[in-house]
Amino acid sequence: MIPFNKPYLSGKETHYIYDAVNSGKISGNGKYTQKCQAYFEEQYGFKKALLTTSCTDALEMCAMLANIELGDEVIVPSFTFVSTAIAFVRQGAKIVFADSYSDNPNIDADKIEALITDKTKAIVPVHYAGVACDMDKIMELAAKYNLLVIEDAAQAIDSFYTGKNGIKRALGSIGHMAAFSFHETKNIIAGEGGMLTINDERFVHRAEIIWEKGTNRAEFFRGEVNKYGWVDTGSSFLPSEVIAAFLWAQIENIEDIQTKRKLLWNTYYEGLKNQSTIVLPKVPSYATNNGHMFYITAKNIDHRTQIINTLKENGFHSVFHYISLHSSDYYISKHDGRALENSDKFTDCLLRLPLFYELTEADVTAIVALLKA
Ligand SMILES: *Cc1c(COP(=O)(O)O)cnc(C)c1O
Repeated sequence: MIPFNKPYLSGKETHYIYDAVNSGKISGNGKYTQKCQAYFEEQYGFKKALLTTSCTDALEMCAMLANIELGDEVIVPSFTFVSTAIAFVRQGAKIVFADSYSDNPNIDADKIEALITDKTKAIVPVHYAGVACDMDKIMELAAKYNLLVIEDAAQAIDSFYTGKNGIKRALGSIGHMAAFSFHETKNIIAGEGGMLTINDERFVHRAEIIWEKGTNRAEFFRGEVNKYGWVDTGSSFLPSEVIAAFLWAQIENIEDIQTKRKLLWNTYYEGLKNQSTIVLPKVPSYATNNGHMFYITAKNIDHRTQIINTLKENGFHSVFHYISLHSSDYYISKHDGRALENSDKFTDCLLRLPLFYELTEADVTAIVALLKA
């Protein structure tokens, strides 16, 4: 069976872990953490990057930085992973779920304004499959209503958005803050891992404090203060150097990883574009594709089940995901009852095909032939 995902390894992960362990500094915010953070800041133009133990943790930090309190409203797409919503729910927020576009699982930016009330604090666009949301529209709404924009960039490393001004910017560098994932199903991985990025100067200082248990320890280590103590709320959000060392081995190979993933993505796309039974992903002209995921949209749930079974019988594992969060067991009774038909359509019809570094073009060609047949 060809799996749906297989974690990429460069081969140098254990070498750097060995080095981190032998350096005697194994806890967080050491040499490897700083190397990774500096790389991301320089490469993608984030004002500040902080490694975290997961994207979920980075989103929790965003909720704390945004001072989300009981009764505040946060606008989140319904077609997303649980973490996008739960990070705000645990601060007491009411989630106002937004629908997707009909031809793209991303949040429909034209439907957001109608959801804004005087309790709204933040909008959380999710760049599904690493394809950008319409950030100009979202940032304009945020400016108009004085809201924060927190990008769920879990799937969006090394992907970009070109605004109306023609400037191409990395996803995660546009909102006030953003969260990335290095879970083993993402493009570059650390097993479990993530990153918070801060683009609004106002949040940088506090982010470091929340990251290290509510203390000003990071400043102390830079020699900026002569003792450190408890100064704010926080938790232990930083990963150990063992995790950061693993991630460094991935970062060193990011170009190679991205080239291969995009090659496989294009092979799927080119192979399937001249048929009309299944719908292919749409990448708007303002967005890039980072090869995170290749998905198709079937006609209905039975059609999707038929495709899954055909692929399985031929040795290929495909998976679907995201039960619309507004109709989840946990949230259905708290949802305001609005129907979100595009989100529900993707719940029923979207299917992810195998896509990982070691997958071959021959595998993709075989899957394409099965789908066409
Ligand atoms: C993977 C993912 C997350 C969660 O990432 P973790 O690092 O596992 O916490 C959150 N949001 C989206 C959209 C994801 O794809």
